[in-house]
Amino acid sequence: MNTHKAKFIARKTIAAHTSLYTFSKPEGFTFKAGQFVTMKVACDNDARRGVRSMSIACAPNEEMLAFAWRETGSGFKMFCNEMEPGDTIDLIGPSGHFTLPEDENVPIVFLIGGIGITPVMSILKEEEQKKSRREITLIYSNRTPETTAFQEDVKKIGLPNYKYVPTYTDVKEKNLSDNTEETGFITWEMVERHVQEPVKKHFYIVGTMEFIDAMRKMLNDNEVERSNITVDNFGKYS
Ligand SMILES: Cc1cc2nc3c(=O)[nH]c(=O)nc-3n(C[C@H](O)[C@H](O)[C@H](O)COP(=O)(O)OP(=O)(O)OC[C@H]3O[C@@H](n4cnc5c(N)ncnc54)[C@H](O)[C@@H]3O)c2cc1C
Repeated sequence: MNTHKAKFIARKTIAAHTSLYTFSKPEGFTFKAGQFVTMKVACDNDARRGVRSMSIACAPNEEMLAFAWRETGSGFKMFCNEMEPGDTIDLIGPSGHFTLPEDENVPIVFLIGGIGITPVMSILKEEEQKKSRREITLIYSNRTPETTAFQEDVKKIGLPNYKYVPTYTDVKEKNLSDNTEETGFITWEMVERHVQEPVKKHFYIVGTMEFIDAMRKMLNDNEVERSNITVDNFGKYS
């Protein structure tokens, strides 16, 4: 697999303890929306030798590369937090099959937990650029609005058949001025409130392993066919 050098450009805070990092796009580097890279930084003080998988959080035709993660204080993340513009890191890849089917008639429901939103950002931005008419529902679970990364971006995606359903697990009272906003964990009843005939849709899941297991169980219990479920292995170490 190819290794590319990318130059750090900037970091910005996009939610509580969550940063967006931009890098120059190395010459000849191409990827599909929804793919990830393996990042390698020269950091001695890290349990995983400075190596992490990170989904690409921008569309393939954007000028720069964007990544987002929670700031946990790990050696890798502290190292990245202290980078200066122009510092380089290695990117290995791209890899991954968390990509949409070519056929725009396949309706998609994203079930997303927390920072698992990153590959979805790439996909949604590309769909927007393509002026896609695909039916897409994004059900995006976070503890609170403050911890929701890319909140404004996912709200304003301009697609004709797109619906955004945020849900907050630590918020008790529903926001009555917003009829798509939910509270609590994602349940089948919640899915049914926002998606017509959900059993016929294609589900894409990203989040922690616990989140993935809970979503798979919910879909299996409600007879969604396995061939209609795509999971990003993102949660393995997140
Ligand atoms: C395909 C893919 C895409 C991803 N995309 C993103 C993304 O866009 N944004 C994002 O925030 N994260 C993403 N992740 C997760 C990311 O790679 C990190 O695992 C995560 O950000 C946590 O890193 P950390 O440095 O904060 O913590 P770490 O120091 O890596 O520790 C995280 C947890 O993993 C455990 N752990 C550490 N090493 C191992 C090991 N060798 N075996 C088993 N358990 C271990 C630790 O005990 C801890 O509980 C992705 C992962 C994959 C596989």
